[in-house]
Amino acid sequence: MLSYLHQFHAGNFADVHKHGALTLALTMMQAKASPIAGFDTHAGSALYDLTGERAGKTGEAKAGIQRVWALRDQLEDSDWSPMLDELARLNPGGGPLVRYPGSPAWFSSVQRDQDTLTAFELHSTESSRLQHWARQHRVVVRNGDGLQGLLGVLPPKAPRLLVLIDPSYEIKTEYAQVCRILKQAWARCRHGVFLIWYPVLASGQHEVLPAQLESSGITKIWHSELHLQQPPERGMTGSGMLVVNPPWGFGDRLDAMLRPVLGSEGLNARHQQSWLVPE
Ligand code: SAM
Repeated sequence: MLSYLHQFHAGNFADVHKHGALTLALTMMQAKASPIAGFDTHAGSALYDLTGERAGKTGEAKAGIQRVWALRDQLEDSDWSPMLDELARLNPGGGPLVRYPGSPAWFSSVQRDQDTLTAFELHSTESSRLQHWARQHRVVVRNGDGLQGLLGVLPPKAPRLLVLIDPSYEIKTEYAQVCRILKQAWARCRHGVFLIWYPVLASGQHEVLPAQLESSGITKIWHSELHLQQPPERGMTGSGMLVVNPPWGFGDRLDAMLRPVLGSEGLNARHQQSWLVPE
């Protein structure tokens, strides 16, 4: 029984990290004209109301995307531009954000005619909401397990591949499962770009994922972590991204993108990154 609902967390600092990395990787890949097949293994419901009851209960977006949005004048002509343009389109009022896109909507906002997206979602209510949103977008929705689903569609017909793996990690074994599936997916498409998000937890439970990937045989894995300067004693103290086959120069661009939003007016966090496994 799945209980995680992204509506409680939409637009938090981890979403900023994840969606920033996703749009950056995709737009960098689009420097070449060849088609990209996109897969979002844990898609959520695509569009979130930051003023809704669930988002209001946690208020997480206030310390996340709302802070980046407030700094937008300082972020003009930067790698934030595709995200800020989309947020402005969805929130024409200009005040605090009301509508915030989830990962399939970020994919779709920068998708070109030659690119495709398939989004998996297991939770039936979330999947129905996703289907409803997808009627107006060029996105194929599959109601089912995204990890097994991914293995079923690889290698894609398109010459290039971008995959986002963003589980809720409700079950402890998901960290090891992600590593297992990634090894199989990579074996089927070695040139694919895979982005994997995970929470940095006070308990250290997440550490199994980078540790197992390090000895998995997969090469070219970039590792980026955001750490909150004033972390809670329990729960999520940071956000992690692992990027297999990052576009050339990705790390420098990600760091330059995050730097202006890390201060106490922004996410109040520290960014650290390096190769987990080099070329
Ligand atoms: N990727 C979304 C975003 O960035 O906007 C957020 C996704 S949320 C962290 C994880 C989602 O995965 C939840 O909506 C949950 O219902 C769904 N989920 C959990 N297990 C799944 C599985 N095995 N396959 C597909 N979806 C799953």
